[in-house]
Amino acid sequence: MKEGLKIVLSGPSGSGKGTIVKELIKNEQFLLSISVTTRQPRQGEEEGVHYFFKTKEAFEKMIAQDELLEYACFCDNYYGTPKAFIEESVKKGKDVILEIEVQGAQQIKEIYPDAIFIFVIPPSLAELESRLVGRGTEERNIIDQRLKRAKEELALYTTYDYIVVNDRLVEAIEDINRIVGAEKLRSCHY
Ligand code: 5GP
Repeated sequence: MKEGLKIVLSGPSGSGKGTIVKELIKNEQFLLSISVTTRQPRQGEEEGVHYFFKTKEAFEKMIAQDELLEYACFCDNYYGTPKAFIEESVKKGKDVILEIEVQGAQQIKEIYPDAIFIFVIPPSLAELESRLVGRGTEERNIIDQRLKRAKEELALYTTYDYIVVNDRLVEAIEDINRIVGAEKLRSCHY
């Protein structure tokens, strides 16, 4: 069987990549890699669905036991990708999405140079701020921290294969589906 694709999706907090992923995985061809994090669950977030929530000690134990493919510290919390799921899923022919930040994406590039790297950006920084404030999931100091980080992340967009502007959700999803479709026709994926 032809292996599935590994799709790395990054973008600043508030770029809407979480919503995009939620839509994409309605298509059974896609599977989402569920990350491990030390961040506190937000309202409505479920263990094993949105993240595997761990203490800092448990996360550091996973690092020591080499259970993570990559990990990074983002705004004072650890985030990491469990190893086994990716390989198992692509072998089954599924396209696996890793929704991760830029430091993790750089690590994945070393491990899987054939992965597809997509960077989702908001139409403007003002729009990004208004989305972060509007979703109401973070305190103002955390929003400021994430906005600062967003500017740092945006500077790294050139390291990605594709840039998708998430102005209108439907169009952003169409763009990503077109990217995936085209990538499947590349000879290196046969
Ligand atoms: P949030 O706290 O908003 O859920 O995620 C914060 C950032 O961490 C987002 O940019 C998200 O893509 C990233 N992230 C989520 N899971 C992982 C992971 O497993 N590894 C890395 N490096 N970043 C992750």
